Amino acid sequence: MDCTICTSMPVMLRPPRNIICSTCYEGARSVIFFINKQLQTAQGPADQKPNLCKASYLTLENVSKWVRDMKAESEELGEKIRFLSGFSVAFRDQIHTDILLQPGESGPPIPAHKALLAIRSEVFNNILDSDGCKAPATDTVKLPELNHEELESLLEFLYNGDLPEDKMNKHIYSLSLAADKYGISYLQKLCECHMLKSMSPANALDVLEVADVCSSLKLKENALDYIVKNMHDIVFSAKYDSFALKNPHLCVQISRASLMDAKRKSVS
Ligand SMILES: [Zn+2]
Repeated sequence: MDCTICTSMPVMLRPPRNIICSTCYEGARSVIFFINKQLQTAQGPADQKPNLCKASYLTLENVSKWVRDMKAESEELGEKIRFLSGFSVAFRDQIHTDILLQPGESGPPIPAHKALLAIRSEVFNNILDSDGCKAPATDTVKLPELNHEELESLLEFLYNGDLPEDKMNKHIYSLSLAADKYGISYLQKLCECHMLKSMSPANALDVLEVADVCSSLKLKENALDYIVKNMHDIVFSAKYDSFALKNPHLCVQISRASLMDAKRKSVS
C-alpha cells in the first residue's frame, strides 16, 4: 500500500499523498490516546499543567511538541539529580562525616552524616534529636539487626535513593525489615514492589514472613494467595518445616486461606 507515513520515498507517491496504512493509523491513534490520558491525569493546579492540557483533544500535530517538552523535562530532572547527588560523593569519600554506624556482627563501623540520616528516616531523626547524641564525631549508633554488608547497602540506598539489582535481590528481606523499623517509607515501597515482582515457590514463605512482621497488608494478601495457588510445591518443601516451627500463626492462616480457596472452587 502507498502509505505516506512509512514509505521511504513519499514524494514518489501519486498526489494527494494522504493515504496511510493500517499500522501507521493504529500507531498514531494509540500515541494520541496514551498522551491524552497522561495529560488528563497530570497532577497540579490547572494553571500549572502543561499547555497541551488546555487543548480539548490532542492531535497528531502537537504530539511532537509534547515529546520535545518531555525530553527537555527529563534532561532538567537529570541535571537536578546530579546536583542533589553531592551527598553520595561525601559518603563515598567520607567528607565531614559526623556519626558512626555499628553493624550487629563484627565488622568496622561505617561513617555517615547525621543530617542525611535524620532527613531520610524519622526514627533516626528521633534518635539523633535525643540528648545522648549531641557530642561530635565519636557518636556511634548500633544497628544490631544488620550485618556489615546489609548496613552498607542500606546506607547506599539512603544516599543514592537506589540500589543495584544484585544488592536488592541479596538483601531484600533485611532491607525491608530495616525500612519498617527505621520508618523509611520509600525504601519500604520499593522493597514491596520488588518482592511482588519476584515472588516464586522458593521465596513466597519468606515474603509472607516479612510482610507479616512489617504489617504490609497488600504484600501479605498477595503472598498468601500465591502460596495457596502453589500449595503443593510449597507445603511439601523442606523449608515449610522450619517455617512452621517459627511461624505457627501464619501456618494457620495458610490452612484457612487454602480451605476457603477449595470451597470457592467447589462452588463455582
Ligand atoms: Zn504506514
